[in-house]
Amino acid sequence: MKTNWFDKKVLILGLSKSGISAAKYLNDKGADVYITEINDVAQEKYQELLDLGIKVETGHHSDDFIKDSYLAITSPGIPPQTEIFSRLKEEKIPVISEVELAYKESLKPFIAITGTNGKTTTTALTAHILKEEYKAEACGNIGLPPCDLLNQNLDYFVLEVSSFQLHYSDAFQPQIACWLNFTPDHVNWHGSLENYFNDKAKIFKFPQAPAFAILNAKDEKLVEFSSQCPSTVFFFAEKRGENACYIENNELLFMRNNKVEKIIDVNEIPLIGEHNYQNVMCAVICAKLVGISNENIVNAIKSFKVPAHRFEFVTEKNGIKFYNDSKATNPESSIVAINSFNNGENVVLIAGGRDKNTDLTEFCESVKNHITSVVLIGEAADRFEENLRNSGFNNIYREGTFESAINKSVSLNPNVVLLSPACASFDMFSGYEQRGDVFKDYVLSKV
Ligand code: ADP
Repeated sequence: MKTNWFDKKVLILGLSKSGISAAKYLNDKGADVYITEINDVAQEKYQELLDLGIKVETGHHSDDFIKDSYLAITSPGIPPQTEIFSRLKEEKIPVISEVELAYKESLKPFIAITGTNGKTTTTALTAHILKEEYKAEACGNIGLPPCDLLNQNLDYFVLEVSSFQLHYSDAFQPQIACWLNFTPDHVNWHGSLENYFNDKAKIFKFPQAPAFAILNAKDEKLVEFSSQCPSTVFFFAEKRGENACYIENNELLFMRNNKVEKIIDVNEIPLIGEHNYQNVMCAVICAKLVGISNENIVNAIKSFKVPAHRFEFVTEKNGIKFYNDSKATNPESSIVAINSFNNGENVVLIAGGRDKNTDLTEFCESVKNHITSVVLIGEAADRFEENLRNSGFNNIYREGTFESAINKSVSLNPNVVLLSPACASFDMFSGYEQRGDVFKDYVLSKV
C-alpha cells in the first residue's frame, strides 16, 4: 500500500546509489529526508542532494538525524551486525530495503531473480524478452534502483535481487521469483551459510511466497527446498514435476501441466555454456508465465547480447580466442566457464586475485579435465597453486602483473585464453569491471 509521505521524517542509511534513489523519490513526495553515511565523503559529491533540500551527514551517525524517524531505508552494503541497527532498534525505527520501498510504492508486479551466480545475465535476458510485449525494465542489483523507475508506469519490474537486499525486505512479495542456484558466498556478511540460505529462501515461503517459484532442478539444495514452497513451482534444467523447462535432443522445451512445447533449437541460442542455457530456461519460464508469444521469445533470445565480463567473447587473434569472464569472482562461476570447453581444446586459464578462501576441490577437478595450463596472479596464487599441485595438476605459471600474465598465456600458443579468476579483484583493481576492461583493452591493442 502506498504511504502518504508528506512531512514524514525518513532516514536513509548510506550514500549509495539505491539510497540516493530512495531519497530523491521520497523527497519528491514531500518527506523530510535525512541521509547518514559513516564514511567521509566530499560535499561536492552530494551537493545536488543538499540543493534539493535533502539533509546529508557523513563520517558519523548523529542522534539528530536518527531520532523521531518514521522509517529507515538501508543500503544493502551495510551488514546486519553493524552498530547503527542496534541504535535504530532502541529507537523502535523500522528498517527496510530500497527494493521493499519500491515494491510498496509501485503496486505493479515484480519478477525477482536471485541466486549465487547468473542473476545479472538472467535479469537482463528476462527484461529483454518482456520488452517485446510489455513496458518492462531490468532493475535492482543490475545497476538501476527500482525507485528510479517508479514514475515510469511500468507493466513489470524485472528485479535482480541480492541476499543483502532480501535480508531487509520482509513484505516484498514478487509475483514470480526465480532462484538460480545456491553455493557458499557472502558468509561474512550474513554471519553464517544458514543465514545466507534463509535470507534467500524467505521470498519463497509464507507469507512472502510468490504465485510462481522458478527453481533449478540440478541444484539439490533447491530441489529439497521446493517441498517447503507453497507457490506453483516450475523447474528448469531438468524435466521434473509437471511444470518445467529443459533441453532434450538439442531442443529447449517448455512443459506446463505435463503439456510440452518446443521453444527454440539450442544451436540458435547466442550464449555459450550449460550455465547460460540454464539462465535462458529460467527466463523462458518467466516469459511464458506472463504470456509472451513463442515467436517473440525466440526473436528476443536471438538478439540478446550477454552483459560485459560474463564469459564474453573478446576477439580471435592469430588463432587464439580470448574470453573475458572477469565477473567470475568465485570458484563456482569459473567452473561453469571452464567446463564449457571440450576436452582436447588447448585452453589457458588466467586465475587468481583476492581469495575468498572457498573450497577448491571441484575447481581443481574442472581444471584437470578441461585446462592445459593455468597462469596465476594476485594474492590467491599461493593457495591456488598448492591446491592444484595437490590435485595432480602441475602446468602452472606465476606472474607478477596482469599484463605479463596475458603475455605468458599467449606465449603458450593455446586455442583459447580464458580470464576467469575465481577470485575478487580488489588486490589489483577497483572491481571486476576494471579487471575485465584492462584485459579487453590489452588483448585488443597489445597482443
Ligand atoms: P550474478 O549477477 O549473480 O553475479 P552474472 O550473470 O553477473 O551473475 O554472472 C556472474 C558469473 O557467473 C559470470 O562469470 C558468469 O559467466 C557466471 N554465470 C552466469 N550464469 C551462471 C549460472 N547460472 N551458474 C553459474 N555461473 C553462472
